[in-house]
Amino acid sequence: MTHAYDIAVVGAGMVGAALATGLAQEGFTVALIDRAPAPEFTPEAAPDIRVSALSKGSERYLEQLGAWPQITRMRATPYRRLAVWDQTPHPLSNLIPRKFTEVEFDATSLGTSHLGHIVENSVTQRALWQAAEANTGVTFFTGHEVSALTENQDDVTLTLDNNTRLAAALVIGADGGQSRIRDLAGIGVTRDQYAQQAMVLSVRYQGPVEDITWQGFFPSGPRAFLPLHSAGADHPGETWASLVWYDAPEQLAQLKALSDSDLLAAVQKAFPTDLPLLTHLDRKASFPIARQHANHYFSGRVVLAGDSAHTINPLAGQGVNLGFQDAQCLQAVLKEARRANDDLANPDRLARYERQRRPANRRMMLTMDLFYHLFSNRIPPLHLARNLGLGAARALPFARNRVARYAMGIDDQLPAVLSQLASRIPGLNQL
Ligand SMILES: Cc1cc2nc3c(=O)[nH]c(=O)nc-3n(C[C@H](O)[C@H](O)[C@H](O)COP(=O)(O)OP(=O)(O)OC[C@H]3O[C@@H](n4cnc5c(N)ncnc54)[C@H](O)[C@@H]3O)c2cc1C
Repeated sequence: MTHAYDIAVVGAGMVGAALATGLAQEGFTVALIDRAPAPEFTPEAAPDIRVSALSKGSERYLEQLGAWPQITRMRATPYRRLAVWDQTPHPLSNLIPRKFTEVEFDATSLGTSHLGHIVENSVTQRALWQAAEANTGVTFFTGHEVSALTENQDDVTLTLDNNTRLAAALVIGADGGQSRIRDLAGIGVTRDQYAQQAMVLSVRYQGPVEDITWQGFFPSGPRAFLPLHSAGADHPGETWASLVWYDAPEQLAQLKALSDSDLLAAVQKAFPTDLPLLTHLDRKASFPIARQHANHYFSGRVVLAGDSAHTINPLAGQGVNLGFQDAQCLQAVLKEARRANDDLANPDRLARYERQRRPANRRMMLTMDLFYHLFSNRIPPLHLARNLGLGAARALPFARNRVARYAMGIDDQLPAVLSQLASRIPGLNQL
């Protein structure tokens, strides 16, 4: 027997679960498929090693979906200050006060209560699953992968690995960077692997919950601090945090081979002195980082959203924020198609989605590289003036602040001259 839906969403990660909920709120019938079971949450348990900085825009979207109150009931840490600075040593390092090499944003001076929240991915995902479950328009199929996809005249048939068959007018691939749906639809990607990896550490430190997230740029890569919640009565005076150390894979492999106490000592020594005293290492993991962009966002009756369409350097924590923007745009396009009584897979409508989202996602990918280069002093000014043109070079003294504002989701727009600069960094043109 084949179950029929308007839309099948494959991948119930943060982006897929948000899309399924939003589409069901619009009145669509949605099949939501994930190979993994529901994410767990235990209040006493140590935090998920995967955390994300959710922007205020993402917060508003999660509020509309009915997931935000549940997220804050579980765990979410607001940050009110955000700082980035250059720790690259050069001959004048000791003479230049940090205020000249640092950019700091403060919610108060920007007239807002906070800049964003650090939330464990499993918390966001669980709240979205609960919002989806509360909507009768969503039917879950979990614990099974899609093994085949067949496009017919008016719909697509998906076959799961337990032989369940589902038919839908449109399939949304929200199954992450290694998307199987993207492969089954024959959509290729342009991919660039960075020389660095990201090592993430879940730690406790001595001290109160912080309201700042910061990142110091070193020649080998940035080192970042993301604040989390209090460690509770079992560990009085201690607080959880997530640390990220970007470096060459060999260097990270050596660090990961250390005992917990030696690794904590190495972190304490290598991180900026702003890092509080670390008391405990709970988990460590490293992630390869790549810039990857799908060559098309749709093909036939399949459309991509979130990491299946694009993965970016996690440097400024924008990956899922972009995915949520894809989700909102795709929802609006499909709502309009339904209002006009049109086929949900109408290529003109899906092209409208791609026209809106591709340039925005590409701009953020390029900005991550510009951001990295500006803070690690990797662009020699003379070379810049010669190759990037005078306009871009003149913009440089103001660039750090403006690029950081955009990269971290404080500004919506990157000034035109900086967009030009980003697009002229070698090796970025093919995305
Ligand atoms: C170190 C690091 C730090 C990051 N920090 C941030 C941050 O601070 N802020 C931010 O915005 N982003 C951050 N990101 C990026 C963010 O994690 C991703 O952009 C986000 O997880 C993408 O969500 P998604 O739902 O598109 O895909 P995923 O989270 O990858 O979810 C995909 C889902 O699809 C399911 N699935 C996969 N294959 C199949 C299949 N064949 N069949 C059925 N189901 C399948 C999976 O089980 C999963 O549930 C970071 C990434 C890294 C690596």
